[in-house]
Amino acid sequence: MSVDLVVVGSGFFGLTIAERAAAELDLKVVVLDRRRHIGGNAYSEREAQTGIEVHRYGAHLFHTSNEKVWEYVSRFTKFTDYQHKVYTSHKGEVFPMPINLGTINAFFGTTLKPVEVEGFLAARRPVIERPANLEEKAISLVGEELYRAFIAGYTEKQWGRSPRDLPASIITRLPVRSSYDDSYFDDRYQGLPVDGYTPIFERLLTGADVETGVDFLADRDHWRARAHRVVYTGPIDAYFGYCHGRLNWRSVRFETRVLGTADSQGTAVMNYADIDVPYTRIHEPKHLHPERTCRADTTVVVREYSQVDNDAPYYPVGTPEDNALLERYQALAAEDPRVRMGGRLAQYKYFDMHHVIAHALKAAREDVA
Ligand code: FAD
Ligand code: UDP
Repeated sequence: MSVDLVVVGSGFFGLTIAERAAAELDLKVVVLDRRRHIGGNAYSEREAQTGIEVHRYGAHLFHTSNEKVWEYVSRFTKFTDYQHKVYTSHKGEVFPMPINLGTINAFFGTTLKPVEVEGFLAARRPVIERPANLEEKAISLVGEELYRAFIAGYTEKQWGRSPRDLPASIITRLPVRSSYDDSYFDDRYQGLPVDGYTPIFERLLTGADVETGVDFLADRDHWRARAHRVVYTGPIDAYFGYCHGRLNWRSVRFETRVLGTADSQGTAVMNYADIDVPYTRIHEPKHLHPERTCRADTTVVVREYSQVDNDAPYYPVGTPEDNALLERYQALAAEDPRVRMGGRLAQYKYFDMHHVIAHALKAAREDVA
């Protein structure tokens, strides 16, 4: 049976397109995912022993300043008023992250006031006119000492390469604050879905069919013959059979443990800044939902280890060589008007969920209609 649209991938990009195509454009849509579940990397499930909701691919915090995205996603869930905070452990001491007045005063043993921070940091950081990489950018923002303590080791662990070989843009995701404001994000809207992420995806799918455990690339001629249009949200280099070579991706291995204690670390996310600690961060998902009642005698912790895994590409590295390769793949993609590429893997961009939804809403209007 033919359909109007095959959507490859049931993450936020694919399912936003699927929902819009079915509800607004009245198209017949089938969504495929090679995983056995829907939701892409934002998928979450209840851990069997404890009932605690665990985000299977790392803690996912929803945040955006985009009114349209907030209005759209709020049609499919209510959000809690959770405000994300992160701490970082360095040489056995714990500091607020991103770097704020509390981090600076604790690290240097000072009692600076907000108005003194800029001058204090200016005296410690060189002027670098055009930072060429992540290391130069970070040093130009916070100086050598804070960079070495909180950024250099963490970044090298996460990306598996020197910060000198990484784009400066990665570090500008984090603010540096001269106040004690310890929110992780600056966005106007943030929170967590009250009943978890997976129900959002189920609601987005109301008007479309879905087949999980199906790899589009293994049978692409069959799927292309069934549909007028294809939206593809997998890795762009995989789509073209790596014909120009592989893009650099980072992946993550999650090590989940159930502990017989009420509270292991007292917060949702603890980063580990030092290079000699093999994991980058530990999540304790219970703290993401303080409004929920859960068992007092147990908790879940998840250690995150960064690694290369070509079967599970999560983070686009984005070296200059990667960007040159990406352009070659984008040129190939432009030759086929029946296929629309979108999302973090197909666009090879370090997108958060709200970026992906914004792009998908635009693509549904302009490229799928
Ligand atoms: P994905 O969610 O990756 O979905 C793509 C889907 O396509 C997958 O389900 C995959 O199985 C499927 N697929 C791929 N190839 C094929 C194929 N050949 N056939 C069939 N199916 C295929 N964002 C935030 O906003 N806040 C956060 O706190 C946050 N934390 C994150 C933490 C981690 C560890 C990671 C990795 C990401 C995080 N993100 C966060 C980013 C967020 O996960 C992405 O922005 C979002 O999930 C991307 O949606 P997507 O639809 O583009 O891709
Ligand atoms: N980062 C760091 N130290 C930290 C947290 C983050 O150096 O304690 C850097 C690191 O390079 C990371 C980037 O900031 O890749 C962006 O951090 P974010 O928390 O946004 O990464 P994500 O949640 O996507 O893994």
